[in-house]
Amino acid sequence: MAKPDPTQRISELRRLIRHHEECYYILNAPEISDEEFDRLLHELERLEADYPDLVAPDSPTQRVAGRPVEGFPTVEHLVPMLSLDNAYNDEELRAFDERVRRAAGVGDAAVAYVAELKIDGLSIALTYNDGRLVRGATRGDGVRGEDVTPNVRTIRAIPLSLRPSTGPGRPEAVEGRGAPAGRIEIRGEVYLPRASFARINKDMEDAGMPLFQNPRNTAAGTMRNLDPALVAKRGLAAFTYQIVADVAAAGDGVKTVPYRTHAETLEAMRSWGLPVERHWRRCDGIVEVAAFCTEWAEKRRTLDFDTDGVVIKVDDLALRERLGTTAKFPRWATAFKFPAQQANTRVRAIRVNVGRTGAVTPFAELEPVFLAGSTIGMATLHNAEDVARKDIREGDTVLIEKAGDVIPKVVAPILALRPPEAVPWAMPATCPVCGSALHRDEEEVVWRCENASCAARIRRSLEHFASRSAMNIEGLGESLVDQLVTRQLVRDYADIYAVTADTLAGLERMGAKSAANLVAQIERSKSNDISRLIYALGIRHVGEKAAATLARHLRTMERLLDATVEQLQTVPEIGPVVADSVRAFAAEPHNRDLIARLRKAGVKMTTELPEPVGGEPEGPLAGKTVVLTGTLKSMTREEATEALEKLGAKVAGSVSRKTTYVVHGSDAGSKLEKAQKLGVETLDEDAFLALIMERE
Ligand SMILES: [Zn+2]
Repeated sequence: MAKPDPTQRISELRRLIRHHEECYYILNAPEISDEEFDRLLHELERLEADYPDLVAPDSPTQRVAGRPVEGFPTVEHLVPMLSLDNAYNDEELRAFDERVRRAAGVGDAAVAYVAELKIDGLSIALTYNDGRLVRGATRGDGVRGEDVTPNVRTIRAIPLSLRPSTGPGRPEAVEGRGAPAGRIEIRGEVYLPRASFARINKDMEDAGMPLFQNPRNTAAGTMRNLDPALVAKRGLAAFTYQIVADVAAAGDGVKTVPYRTHAETLEAMRSWGLPVERHWRRCDGIVEVAAFCTEWAEKRRTLDFDTDGVVIKVDDLALRERLGTTAKFPRWATAFKFPAQQANTRVRAIRVNVGRTGAVTPFAELEPVFLAGSTIGMATLHNAEDVARKDIREGDTVLIEKAGDVIPKVVAPILALRPPEAVPWAMPATCPVCGSALHRDEEEVVWRCENASCAARIRRSLEHFASRSAMNIEGLGESLVDQLVTRQLVRDYADIYAVTADTLAGLERMGAKSAANLVAQIERSKSNDISRLIYALGIRHVGEKAAATLARHLRTMERLLDATVEQLQTVPEIGPVVADSVRAFAAEPHNRDLIARLRKAGVKMTTELPEPVGGEPEGPLAGKTVVLTGTLKSMTREEATEALEKLGAKVAGSVSRKTTYVVHGSDAGSKLEKAQKLGVETLDEDAFLALIMERE
């Protein structure tokens, strides 16, 4: 049998893989399973390993080729990336149309527009040279952006090379390749699909890390990550919406794009294999545009990405040329912003929730109202300070808002509708569940119930103990925990191991079979590695990763409980906050007793994790010192400290020459100035989020 020609098979595989990438990442209509796709990719990888001469930079195996980069070089855009003027209602849309028609001198005749969904992501400029992707840059300040090519290459919706066009009026083809010749720049938007966002936040939650607020910020943070391998894992996607001709490199023949209308350019881009959001519509006149906007203000919830409006562009490219731009905006385009997803309703009551750590958080019980696809009966109020600042009172009519996938929140009370008897809300003096007095530390915004035996805390703690990333006792969820605690069958973690089929008999929704399953699950959990147990105990500031680190270094429960704060701090990645917290836990006689009972029940108290090598610091940020200043939007100071310490960084209070980074939120003061004076690297919130995402 003749050996097949590797060249031919390689090019066939590349074509097939790109075809399936398009089906999956652009058309959302996969034709083959993920396993089959991986098989194609592996076959190509094997062939390329055997014939390294045949590896090409635009091969799908080369998406993640680079090592982590040191930083992003600044690059200049060929044509400045302008932002768009906004229209917030029909009237402003009509005013835009009138300006266009006056400048075009068309009298009463309608102008054709293209309406596209506006993607809530991060703008990018892609440069293709003779059909090959050579550069991807962020918008930056519009004139200069950051060269993020290695990250852009990992986004599977973006082709590494363009396909021969079959569309009308395509530019002349490169010999033998058929892709658009010369240098062209494609503009688009990188975004995070809602499904990827949900998956990332699930991972963050499992790791005990603060959650990301919305897909846009997460996408922005990811694009600024210095490790392309990590970016590849995040599942970013992209849409492209504009071709910019390379006038700068014109030389012996100005390269203009041979299209007459914007609609044609969108079709051409699509035919080259570029991702174009498919709901765009050519509209004859502004009335049709307005109808498109109204239609999508409702329908946008059915999409897998966030859109905050519609971009409206003059379709005729020659007319665009004539209209030109102002200093800030093109005159031929505008962005219609969807009205915020808001509604009015009444606050029936303000109540508080007691969490596992005793943290007491207020929430509003609302008169149910339909908003953005679901009925809302409750909204978080974050903390007592927030309630006081907004002055939200029981009985108030309030404006509530839903943004992206975020839990609904109360924006503000409507003062004109405030009932005369409404009084300012105050945090209750005592825990609504156990009656203990609530406390708040000087520096903190969070109030706590300090009673470790509080029934609410016990319920939440037991749920945490049994959860998937802790002891992983399947079947021991919220409703069962509630019944066990209410009937006083389980009071603490150790009681779980005394549960038998008899204990469970007679509980709601608990047949003989599910009771037997649960008992088997409980039994099985006894042989879990101690790292799971350490996390399950719910020691403050000890997330999944810190628990594993403690297990690897200390090996047994005795050594963990007997370690001094100094000893704990010598463990890499364990900072003073975690060390103090572990020590406080170990010093409490109740906790010692609890551990003794778990041991007696047969719960494993040792680890199988490999011993750490040498005494080397661990974690991606080991050896780095970070100073926090100002207010971060996405997390509290405490959460940021915890996240950094888990990654091995030391968090310090003051800036010195030894400081690696100063992270600054809003209202940053003298620490930021000092950092700049000393030449210490400073990170804004996006850059900080990117840094902590390098943990994997
Ligand atoms: Zn309580």
